Amino acid sequence: MKAEIICVGTELLLGDILNTNARFLSRQLAALGITVHRQWVVGDNEGRLAQLVHEALERSDLLVFSGGLGPTADDLTKETVARCFGDTLALEPSILQNIRGYFASTGRHMPPHNEKQAMVPQQGGWFENHNGTAPAVWFEKDGKRAVLLPGPPSELHPLWNEQVGPWLAAGQKQMLYSLVLRVTGLGESHVEEKVGHLLENQNPTAALYAKTGEVHIRITALAKTQTEGEAACRAYAEKFYAILGDHIYGEGDKGLEHALVKALQQKGLTVATAESCTGGLVSQRITQVPGASEVFGFGFCTYANQAKHKLLGVEDRLLETVGAVSSQVASQMAVGAARVSGADIAVSLTGIAGPGGGTDKKPVGLVYVAACRGNDVYVAKLLLGARDRQSIRTSAANRALDMARRLALGLSLPGTKHFAADQTADFEAEER
Ligand code: ATP
Ligand code: MG
Repeated sequence: MKAEIICVGTELLLGDILNTNARFLSRQLAALGITVHRQWVVGDNEGRLAQLVHEALERSDLLVFSGGLGPTADDLTKETVARCFGDTLALEPSILQNIRGYFASTGRHMPPHNEKQAMVPQQGGWFENHNGTAPAVWFEKDGKRAVLLPGPPSELHPLWNEQVGPWLAAGQKQMLYSLVLRVTGLGESHVEEKVGHLLENQNPTAALYAKTGEVHIRITALAKTQTEGEAACRAYAEKFYAILGDHIYGEGDKGLEHALVKALQQKGLTVATAESCTGGLVSQRITQVPGASEVFGFGFCTYANQAKHKLLGVEDRLLETVGAVSSQVASQMAVGAARVSGADIAVSLTGIAGPGGGTDKKPVGLVYVAACRGNDVYVAKLLLGARDRQSIRTSAANRALDMARRLALGLSLPGTKHFAADQTADFEAEER
């Protein structure tokens, strides 16, 4: 089945809002095995919208709309598409009652123009909106369908997930099931070298996506049922696990912070952070995860040298000689954070996020990440290149989260130097 997505709204054309509905709908349709051939944005203009609908109906079987279902005069999607499909609208008393109830629950009277939201197709149908006043509606003509959804994502998502998606899926003979494997500690080309031969398969297919500080492998199976698709993806994923092992830290949409919190919970351990160039990013990501309080109590944001010394006990003479961006200072930050917090594991970061501040010896993108557990300290020296500030910070944070995860799980820490906590001031440490 071929589909087109049509997002209606002058706000979108002006760039006032980001078209997140198009992305959401594309992903959802792909998951149902429906091929999206085009995405459109059109303003609140009846003539241009009608023209687009007529053209799209020539090419495609399904049109999915978002926006323009509101009560005001410039909300004209439903009326326009009804005309294009030769359908008429009639008042649906149960919806009108719901809208009145919605206003009453907020202590207001329903303005008369909201009545138009209770108008539904005579030949087509509608889906009740539990999070707003405009129902989703559908039209059908000559085997072609249109589905219209309200613009606010807080209404569109549940309408899709609970009603429209299952309704479309019921008419599909085949569906797509996807599984995403999340890989850290290896660059995209390195991953490709190892698993390139697995990327040629017909069904399931597998593709690599480079993200900031990690790589995703999306495995997609075409199947008759969700269970069948899931089983096919799972079996194919095992081939990647066999090659990439613990470089695959998780699946789906959960980032490294989730993997770390889970690992700490499993092992009954706690972590502390000491951050310079990331300014709290690592602790922010850890505390995004529900249940983080079981495993995280202390995050030190030690941006200035004085803070590193005062809060974490980093030696002044080190800050003066080798400087804040050094493996020795990173090590002492981690050891200090573990000591002061009493956490089982501590991670620290110190580096040059740019765009200024780089030198020949210490260029932008140089970040030291240290992790310690007991008397063992591991330091990674990252050369992230002169990228933008945010991606340097994100990549460095990913590495810190992964090092903590590895320490928690008792895995090896590739690409790090290891030494004892009481040697962290050793001037030779960097050369080991
Ligand atoms: P309302 O009843 O709120 O008027 P509507 O169905 O008429 O809903 P619009 O008026 O087009 O929808 O948009 C309402 C709001 O929904 C926008 O201000 C915006 O916040 C959000 N929205 C609309 N379209 C999109 C989109 N394509 N992507 C993300 N958000 C959107
Ligand atoms: Mg509107």
